[in-house]
Amino acid sequence: MGLAGSVSGMTPTDRSRAEELDAADPLAPLQQRFVVDDSELIYLDGNSLGRLPVATKARLAAVVEQEWGSGLIRSWEQWIDLPTRCGDLIAAHLVGAEPGEVVVSDSTSVNLYKLAVAALDARPGRTVIVADDDNFPTDRYVVAGLAAQRGLELRMVGSDPVYGPDLESLAAAIDERTALVTLSHVGYRSAALADMAAITALAHEAGALVLWDLCHSVGSVPVQLGATGADLAVGCTYKYLNAGPGAPAFLYVRRDLQTSLRQPIWGWFGQRDQFSMGPDYDPQPDIRRFTVGTPDIVGIAAVEEGVAVLAEAGIERLRTKGRQLTDYLIELADHWLAPLGFELASPRDSARRGSHVALRHDDAWRICQAYIDASKVIPDFRAPDRLRLGPAPLTSSYVQVWEALDRLRGLVEAGTHREYGDGRARVT
Ligand SMILES: *Cc1c(COP(=O)(O)O)cnc(C)c1O
Repeated sequence: MGLAGSVSGMTPTDRSRAEELDAADPLAPLQQRFVVDDSELIYLDGNSLGRLPVATKARLAAVVEQEWGSGLIRSWEQWIDLPTRCGDLIAAHLVGAEPGEVVVSDSTSVNLYKLAVAALDARPGRTVIVADDDNFPTDRYVVAGLAAQRGLELRMVGSDPVYGPDLESLAAAIDERTALVTLSHVGYRSAALADMAAITALAHEAGALVLWDLCHSVGSVPVQLGATGADLAVGCTYKYLNAGPGAPAFLYVRRDLQTSLRQPIWGWFGQRDQFSMGPDYDPQPDIRRFTVGTPDIVGIAAVEEGVAVLAEAGIERLRTKGRQLTDYLIELADHWLAPLGFELASPRDSARRGSHVALRHDDAWRICQAYIDASKVIPDFRAPDRLRLGPAPLTSSYVQVWEALDRLRGLVEAGTHREYGDGRARVT
């Protein structure tokens, strides 16, 4: 995808080019909807923890002071439908699903477990789980744990570190013994974008169910769960959805599968006619059967606010900007950073990439520390040698990308990172 609007005669690395791109950006005004208390600081980690929407502060204050403080238990009348109402918002605006197919609950890890078990139980006699070896750790651990508990075979497809798992390797791994295929839509390290339609079709041809992890795509890349025929999906809300640290995740179950699937945690919020407190578990005939216990109301209120801003921006416009921002970042990196030992570790074609860019460098960890400390730019580091730069389409500008790369070039040219140690922090 080309970058629109550049004036001829300007070199690609001129700051004025970034200014021009910002001036033409229809989403630029929405940056003011987020709390920015230090305009010097450049935040390129919205793909790990999104910024705080201004509206969320007032909403959370109202939930705490009025709904909880004054309303007390009476507020459950309005709280009880929040998980499904917020799920419907995510379904309609972000993941291409119907009302009643998404609910907000628990964490991504727990939802992965619940849906993976539900899928395995729906394919009795099949003994294989197919996953990829470069998926996010929790995804790999959850399926490894399940395989160990149930004596199943876990087939870990070898993933290309830049492009993710390829269709041929997946096709070779998926067969009539496969119960479940589980992958990320956008790879957490390289941002490789998987072909959801083609992979879902592969799984279905073999009679397997597919479970997608949308953590790094939801809110930045349009997701077509309905149109691709995906069976199951999970995703978190504290990355591009800007709902705050540990905000509850969401899960998707295609409507026609809902009543035939059973999740393993039989809690009272999944129960039909919950307040009759009946003797036996009889799950709801809808998406609510995939919930467990009392929902995190404060957290879900923040999810609703975060999703509302994304809905206003529109996922197609967010995607267009995400592609252009990362194209621009890569173009500057080619000019300025390649001569300093950086290598692109994300797909070059924006059609195959989510909204962050990984750069490989031998000194990535030291550079990451110096970048935060001395340059006031926040990226993150992913082992073993990747600097991950995530300009979020909703909250980042082209000038910030220009400024961030200019500071990175200055830092590495000056050798400032050599003053930083090699010992790893507890959180990277
Ligand atoms: C961020 C992320 C998670 C996080 O799971 P939690 O249960 O919220 O800690 C899981 N999977 C992927 C692919 C992620 O990017």
